[in-house]
Amino acid sequence: MAEVLVYVDHVDGAVRKPTLELLTLARRIGDPVAVALGSGAADTAATLAEHGAVKVLTHEAAEYADYLVVPKVDALQAAHEAVSPAAVLVPSSTEGKEIAARLALRLGSGIITDAVDLEAGDKGPVATQSVFAAAFTTKSHVSKGTPVITVKPNSAAVEPAPAAGVVEALSVSFSAQATGTKVTARTPRESTGRPELTEAAIVVSGGRGVNGAENFAIIEALADSLGAAVGASRAAVDAGWYPHTNQVGQTGKSVSPQLYIASGISGAIQHRAGMQTSKTIVAVNKDAEAPIFELVDYGVVGDLFDVVPQLTEEVKTRKG
Ligand code: FAD
Repeated sequence: MAEVLVYVDHVDGAVRKPTLELLTLARRIGDPVAVALGSGAADTAATLAEHGAVKVLTHEAAEYADYLVVPKVDALQAAHEAVSPAAVLVPSSTEGKEIAARLALRLGSGIITDAVDLEAGDKGPVATQSVFAAAFTTKSHVSKGTPVITVKPNSAAVEPAPAAGVVEALSVSFSAQATGTKVTARTPRESTGRPELTEAAIVVSGGRGVNGAENFAIIEALADSLGAAVGASRAAVDAGWYPHTNQVGQTGKSVSPQLYIASGISGAIQHRAGMQTSKTIVAVNKDAEAPIFELVDYGVVGDLFDVVPQLTEEVKTRKG
């Protein structure tokens, strides 16, 4: 069976969920070979093996720290030479997309970004994408070189599938570009304790209807009761009520959670573009004619200041 390279997104050996989802998809195409880089790379092996990795190629070097992408591209290129895979899968994070684009250029390969599904096809892996503000779903395959495909978080289930997970050291020689950039300082953002927006299984978003930065506390309270991330419409971000890092939509982040709850958001096409592929969509809006209700699974016509706190209390009560 063909091998499929899977780039491992991990923090000091703790594998992040989008990588486990990639392993589910990789198994549809061939035998997953995971590539884990940097501090704690070898510690990823057990988890990756539990989720179907037949092999785990590891390389630890100081160059991988600080989110610099070129060393990682060098390593994936080395893994590509070692394995000759049927495809290279990378999580669709900001970093992942840069790594994938640079790798595709190096390999002279075609690239597909932001896939939401993947299946085996006669001419190689077939990727499903949601395009034009989610107005269309397309299926495509790469016709040149080794397909490099980035996949959005929450596009597949995490499925245990025990495999050998044989650990092998990858041999990597860094290019001149890899060592040409250094991070000289970094200031970590204050942690909210909430999951990353693009990876969260549940996202609770607020829009102009929230009517003020201080009122986002009720959106956050619902999010926290559900263990969710907080999103915001551009109107709320432009008003200075919530940071741009939390904006969902065409000029913000694209999310695809299991559950998306939009409160006080009208459902403009540019907002839909970032959330329409969510599995279940719930909206709270006081205007029964709001366009968001065209795409919801469950809609509540009501004042979010009444509905959202009640919902939060209900969730808390049910959770005990
Ligand atoms: P509004 O459209 O003003 O809707 C507010 C809603 O809240 C209304 O439906 C109202 O009925 C409801 N409401 C008010 N009070 C309450 C209450 N008390 N209880 C319940 N409901 C209430 N937008 C994005 O979101 N993301 C993007 O990335 C993005 N990119 C863009 C890119 C371009 C190039 C352009 C031109 C626009 C972009 N926009 C984006 C903006 C987009 O067109 C809309 O203007 C924006 O999404 C509107 O935000 P909103 O739904 O919060 O506000």
